[in-house]
Amino acid sequence: MSDFSGKSVMVLGGSRGIGAAIVRHFTAAGAKVSFSYSGSPDAAAAVAAETGATAVKADSANRDELIAAVAGAGALDIMVINAGVAKMGDPLTLDADVVDRLIDVNVRAPYHAGVEAGRRMNDNGRIVIIGSVNGDRVPVAGLTAYALSKSAVQGIGRGLARDFGARGITVNMVQPGPVDTDMNPAEGPLAKMLHGMMAIPRHAHADEIAALVLFLASPAAAMITGTTQTIDGGMGI
Ligand code: NDP
Repeated sequence: MSDFSGKSVMVLGGSRGIGAAIVRHFTAAGAKVSFSYSGSPDAAAAVAAETGATAVKADSANRDELIAAVAGAGALDIMVINAGVAKMGDPLTLDADVVDRLIDVNVRAPYHAGVEAGRRMNDNGRIVIIGSVNGDRVPVAGLTAYALSKSAVQGIGRGLARDFGARGITVNMVQPGPVDTDMNPAEGPLAKMLHGMMAIPRHAHADEIAALVLFLASPAAAMITGTTQTIDGGMGI
């Protein structure tokens, strides 16, 4: 594992699941980490107490709050945009407000957070956006809103990779398949169906996603930018 001593890292959505694993990996590697949370203050406090990271309350759906939180982190070396929500359902009946909130959290927030991080970021910095295999593939019905959001972040990442590249800043998307978290439990009702689509028929562990994020944030990945790195156990092949 690379040494991230002296590096300033922010993780959007670090209170639970994949984001909490990313916070743990970066703090274990010596980085100074802050992370945002919104609905899970107890979980955020527990991650902060365990890792020494700083928890910052900021709802990704609230643009001003989000931008203030990113600006407040100062000159970052690494920004990981992880916070996201998933709502499945028939688009003919899915509540339009629920869909709009999903777009706020999964699309508007990554755009504004990425831009704001880039404004202050040190040269040779790193931005990693957590997308999804559903940005490329929609293997079942009921995923339209979620899939649109994960396709959209590919465009954000490619665009920012061009915008910030001259400063040595890389911007990449990590696209997980099923990962065992509150959002998609390994023992959940969809698990069997999901495993049936995978070459490696199991949920990933959040630590496996964090390891890829740390690689993309490391000096070894300096020439990888604008890419989508899929980590889905072969679900999308
Ligand atoms: P979880 O639901 O387990 O955790 C989501 C995290 O995002 C929490 O820390 C939560 O914080 C934060 N978050 C959600 N909404 C907001 C908000 N409005 N403002 C601030 N923080 C917010 O999900 P996962 O860990 O599974 O998912 C993380 C990312 O990975 C998401 O972008 C998701 O789409 C993506 N992903 C997940 C997959 C999976 O199978 N699990 C597969 C592919 C992609 P809080 O509770 O404090 O609000």
